[in-house]
Amino acid sequence: SISINNLSKAYGKAGVLKEVDLQIAAGEIFGLIGPSGSGKTTLVKMIVGIESATNGTVEVLGKQVPNLKLLENIGYMAQEDALYPELTGKENLSFFASLYKMKKADLKDRIAYAADLVELTDELGKKVVAYSGGMKRRLSLAIALVHDPQILILDEPTVGIDPELRISIWRELMTLKKEQGKTIIVTTHVMDEAEKCDRIAMVREGGILAAGTPAELKTTYGAADLEEVFLQAG
Ligand code: ATP
Repeated sequence: SISINNLSKAYGKAGVLKEVDLQIAAGEIFGLIGPSGSGKTTLVKMIVGIESATNGTVEVLGKQVPNLKLLENIGYMAQEDALYPELTGKENLSFFASLYKMKKADLKDRIAYAADLVELTDELGKKVVAYSGGMKRRLSLAIALVHDPQILILDEPTVGIDPELRISIWRELMTLKKEQGKTIIVTTHVMDEAEKCDRIAMVREGGILAAGTPAELKTTYGAADLEEVFLQAG
């Protein structure tokens, strides 16, 4: 459902993405794995349509990005939280939810569902200024999925989140995929998160080193784990 074709991006003379080709199927969890500065954030921003291409195209659900109609089908969680600190968690969630065409009753249900999913229900009445980093990440995740988009694009969703909740968030992502058929694109540099993806692409210096299922990649490179695949592919 997502087709990335010969996509390049340069800031001035510096190329940060180089002729990237990727196909991401509907209903899969696709991981973009790579070190800091490799170009993962730039790539996801171009899929969302908030960064323009120097060359190449991105198509989502058969439409070329950017496209206004796509926005209701995409939930985006940026690497940096963009929240209103002096409003409560609930007010933040309500505000973002209100940007989408939802019936009032649905809106209420979706807010409750999203808050519950990220285990923030009991903290919704607090101002965001009093939230920890992990709570802000969870609120941002709830905002990304509150309008029930078909595609979720999550940039380092578990940074600053403690291990227990990290596991529970991954469990929820699996559920969103299995029970609701969501397509989920997630960036990470944590290899055990990469293991949980259906397919991954290893990104380095703006290029794709290797792509496939974690099992395929390990077999291809005769590697014991993905860390080793990464080293060998580079
Ligand atoms: P991280 O996990 O640290 O965010 P990343 O893999 O997401 O890393 P990007 O944020 O996509 O990497 O950055 C890729 C490269 O592009 C970096 O070298 C970065 O400095 C550069 N870059 C990103 N945005 C800009 C910009 N607006 N102007 C100039 N250079 C930029």
